[in-house]
Amino acid sequence: MKFKFVFSILGSFYFVLNGCATNKPNALTTGSADPEHSPSVIEYVVKYESPSTLEVQASFAADSSGTTAVVLPAGMYERDKRYEKMSDLRLAGNDVKIDDPGHGNSISILSPPDKLIHLSYKLSPRATQGGFEADFPTINDTYVHFNGSMLLHPERFATISAHVIINWDLPKKWTLANSYGSEKRRQEFEGNFGKTSIGNIYDTVFVAGDFRVYSLDIFSHSVVFAVRGNWKFSDKELTEVVRKVIAGQRTFWNDFDEPYYFAALVPNGKVCCRIGGHGLTQSFSAYLSERDQSLDRFTHVLSHEHFHHWTGEKIAPEAWEQTYWFTEGFTEYYSWKINLMIGILNYEDFVDAVNTAIYKYYSSDKRLATNVEAGNGMNKEGAYTVLNYYRGMLVASEWDAEIRRKSHGAKSLHDLMLSLYDETGKSGKLLTNAIVEKVFAEYVGTEAKTRFENDVVSGKLIRPSDDALGPCAHVVDKKINRYDLGFVNGPTKISKLNPNGNGYAAGLRDGQEILDEKFKDFVPWDPVSLQVRDQAGARWITYYSVTGDTIEMPMYIVDRKDPDRCKSWYQ
Ligand SMILES: [Zn+2]
Repeated sequence: MKFKFVFSILGSFYFVLNGCATNKPNALTTGSADPEHSPSVIEYVVKYESPSTLEVQASFAADSSGTTAVVLPAGMYERDKRYEKMSDLRLAGNDVKIDDPGHGNSISILSPPDKLIHLSYKLSPRATQGGFEADFPTINDTYVHFNGSMLLHPERFATISAHVIINWDLPKKWTLANSYGSEKRRQEFEGNFGKTSIGNIYDTVFVAGDFRVYSLDIFSHSVVFAVRGNWKFSDKELTEVVRKVIAGQRTFWNDFDEPYYFAALVPNGKVCCRIGGHGLTQSFSAYLSERDQSLDRFTHVLSHEHFHHWTGEKIAPEAWEQTYWFTEGFTEYYSWKINLMIGILNYEDFVDAVNTAIYKYYSSDKRLATNVEAGNGMNKEGAYTVLNYYRGMLVASEWDAEIRRKSHGAKSLHDLMLSLYDETGKSGKLLTNAIVEKVFAEYVGTEAKTRFENDVVSGKLIRPSDDALGPCAHVVDKKINRYDLGFVNGPTKISKLNPNGNGYAAGLRDGQEILDEKFKDFVPWDPVSLQVRDQAGARWITYYSVTGDTIEMPMYIVDRKDPDRCKSWYQ
């Protein structure tokens, strides 16, 4: 359960960009005598009403047919379903009328053609759920957080670009930041409510309240970072991570033209180390536990999601299910590798990340699945989802090594990534497996065909090469105990504990309340610590969550006889 929760985080990008294309929004229609009545303009007033309501007023021109289809607010991943905490939908004027079928998330407005429509509605949090929900609004007297899917709009903005104006009516002391800027109480931007990844307004985040907002200058372009809550790290440490990761990845891609980027960190109100994140339109949001001791988790989620700005958004797949091995696997590889290259991850931790991928791949009963099986099973069956990430990461590591061997160290997978960007995003083409194979052949020659067939298409077992992590790590075959938490991790209590497992031996019992958790990843060699409470009081219990069952697999061991040679491999 916990695994799925944590994993769904990395998987969330799939939903955000599923089915995307690269249609760029058009410029605002000009030349109209009355810009207010231009079909491309929509103006909102977003007003906070104490203690937990947002009133949204929307003004836009009716369709020239006199019947305007309007899409109502919906949850971030439930866009066909009306958000049930929307209320007080009101339409101003006598010659206008709402035709509401009462189901689904759209209504029609009947009016004189091209008339300026004024609609208002109220949003409240889903009180029954309690706590923070990343995909639905949080509105309270301290802050608000919501996604662009909460903005009602005419259906036509799925196909034509919208010129959006938002006027914010918020408490004076509140700060304000979002996917389009910060602090300005009147914002204007272009976008669409369609399924395209670039400029998609659904996939955006808006925050206001007691956020601490930092403006960073990265290669002369603006990056805004907003954070609230009390963390185990200083804002300076967090801001430095944002700066280094974004600067490092832009340098990697040699891509410095992004005019604006927004990153938000919001406490999720949960025990450690629950974590979530969304890669969004020119923005990223992370939801972590304030009790998390490890800055590495924030660094990794930011690195993974920000890399998707290219692998998924700028290098957008033609058919997502066919290229998850690349969009997730290569993203996962570089979310570690670039941090090693720029000096914010040490070599031992990088090797540990590769070993984690090997463990998750070798211990999976789906490890020999074909690419079609793994692609179709993504986000439907956990084992296939895992396979796309970790088998894909090993494909990246092996191809990196092969390109280095073939070029005698002159080239690496980095060059292949830049070529792929040239061949896809920069040429206006969508990513396909055929393009990847063609570019791979430019680096390794005729061997590309067999490698591609074995590593990607048919899913033959990949054995990590001895030299793939440079001169300071080598492969040994090891017997590894299988990971097993040993109980069902319910939201608050331990249940279905295995009486023969390590957790029981360490003192866990069914019914104990879980107060807090500490773990690094779901692998057998990292201990899990749980803070539990029962009649005897609260205490921490630490154990290795493994079974007696072992699996043989290759693992890298670090052997730093010559530290300078290690560095020369990744710097
Ligand atoms: Zn991802």
